[in-house]
Amino acid sequence: MNMNHIEDESKKKTSLNFIEQLIEKNISEGKNGGRVHTRFPPEPNGYLHIGHAKSICLNFGLAKKYNGLTNLRFDDTNPAKEDVEYVDSIMRDVKWLGFDWEDRLYYASDYFDQLYEWAVVIIKKGKAYVDDQSAEEMSTQRGTPSKPGIESPYRNRSIEENLDLFRRMKDGEFPDGARILRAKIDMASPNMQLRDPAMYRIKRAHHHRTGDKWCIYPMYDFAHGQSDYIEGITNSICTLEFEVHRPLYDWYLDQIVEGDYRPVQTEFARLNLTYTVMSKRKLLQLVEENLVHGWDDPRMPTITGLRRRGYTPESIRNFADIIGVAKRDNVIDVALLEYSIKEDLNKKANRVMAVLDPIKIILTNYPEGQVEELEAINNPEDESAGKRTLYFSRELLIERADFMENPPSKFFRLAPGNEVRLRYAYVIKCNKVSKNTEGEITEILCTYDPDTKSGSGIPLTRKVKGTIHWLSASQAIPAEIRLYDRLFINENPDDVEEDKDFKSNLNPDSLQIINGFVEPVLDDAIHESKYQFERNGYFCVDLDSTPEKLVFNRTVSLRDSWTKMNKD
Ligand code: ATP
Ligand code: MG
Repeated sequence: MNMNHIEDESKKKTSLNFIEQLIEKNISEGKNGGRVHTRFPPEPNGYLHIGHAKSICLNFGLAKKYNGLTNLRFDDTNPAKEDVEYVDSIMRDVKWLGFDWEDRLYYASDYFDQLYEWAVVIIKKGKAYVDDQSAEEMSTQRGTPSKPGIESPYRNRSIEENLDLFRRMKDGEFPDGARILRAKIDMASPNMQLRDPAMYRIKRAHHHRTGDKWCIYPMYDFAHGQSDYIEGITNSICTLEFEVHRPLYDWYLDQIVEGDYRPVQTEFARLNLTYTVMSKRKLLQLVEENLVHGWDDPRMPTITGLRRRGYTPESIRNFADIIGVAKRDNVIDVALLEYSIKEDLNKKANRVMAVLDPIKIILTNYPEGQVEELEAINNPEDESAGKRTLYFSRELLIERADFMENPPSKFFRLAPGNEVRLRYAYVIKCNKVSKNTEGEITEILCTYDPDTKSGSGIPLTRKVKGTIHWLSASQAIPAEIRLYDRLFINENPDDVEEDKDFKSNLNPDSLQIINGFVEPVLDDAIHESKYQFERNGYFCVDLDSTPEKLVFNRTVSLRDSWTKMNKD
């Protein structure tokens, strides 16, 4: 994937997507008074994920672009799976992403009385009936897309009887599942959604807001469009699987709309990402079976997980912008999400040095006990980030992988007889290694060249090809470093053998915890602050981090390292 190309595209982006085209047409025709009012309607049955973020950015973004409004509405019509923990997390996540519903926080459950009244209106029109059959009977009568369904024997009940039964359903006279209220539409419709769909079911479940007031609950399809109508929504934007529900959305509105105002449903393709599961049901399984450490595990595609991983709201919004809205289902390369955070952190994150897998260097010609202060630039992309002090001394730590005893010819890092530049410091030369009785290297003995101090202006008379990062051993601070990798090994986690499920594609190495060292400047770094560990990637301070024990998460690795870079 050519990322530069994508960036250019996103900067140009003058053409309108199909939803914007529709909105501009509606505005020019004065539809709904030229208003634009969208909503984000999560069901509080799980945490929000990156797919929801896409929908949030779309809904709030359109309203912003067209001077409109966006509501946050909890679509809480199924009490069995819903929970206030989810309600709270959803509000937190939407705010964190940078969006504000102001005073427009709504719950579909606030409309239960109105929805009940509208159901009565529809019964009175002779367009809904109470069916006493079992779920199995009704499902066999539904037919198939190519075969018409069979009408229920209860379909032609009188309006009076339907009104009476529906009231008694509400009053709790019948057991759960004994009866349902169905819309009377068309059992032969080629659209299965129109074959007398359920409007209300009996379910004795405690609701997180209405408590035990109701023992009947409206179905999603009946609740959703009516809620849009109550709130004055103009554009009800949802994902493609609801395309076939649109005639039903419209049918229900036809029964209640008075006047000119009317919401319009438009569908777009949901976001799918490689190496990622996006179904709330599957994410819940990962949490409940302790396959991850909770909803905010940095490997989760949840907003709270991405946040803990070190993603910024800007990077997620920018990602949503770059991918745009599509009319057909597709799968986006997760590398594009990783690209978005790298782009953002490149501008914002201060650079520091951290050694993840240390090996010790002794500079045999550097005075014992001497500590020298050197200057380092915090962010070459942002001058205002200033400079910081590095400490240089006789004992240093470097990355084990930056040394090889018997290197191949193109190895430009440290090796016996080789010179290498230490970032912001001096050129050193490796003379000898010390080994323990097992033959493992314990120390690398080097000499430094005092005339090669970075920034001193003294020209180097010889070529030094490699630059490596380092820390002064006695000033370095130990830190736990959590290296995250993709949660799944398969690009499509659902691609499994018949008797297995997506969990068989979990990556056993998605988390590696190591003990490394960081610069002393990080000793009071606060939670969520972000850094580039030079050559190692972008990292952030984890919520588990304390002054006694620093903990960093790797957000994303760097694409390129500056191993071959000559100047600093
Ligand atoms: P489910 O219906 O299985 O509980 P859901 O992901 O549809 O899951 P909702 O809470 O209903 O969950 O979603 C809220 C809004 O977010 C809906 O408008 C939905 O269309 C949108 N949405 C959900 N998943 C995605 C996705 N992957 N890409 C874009 N939008 C999404
Ligand atoms: Mg849904």
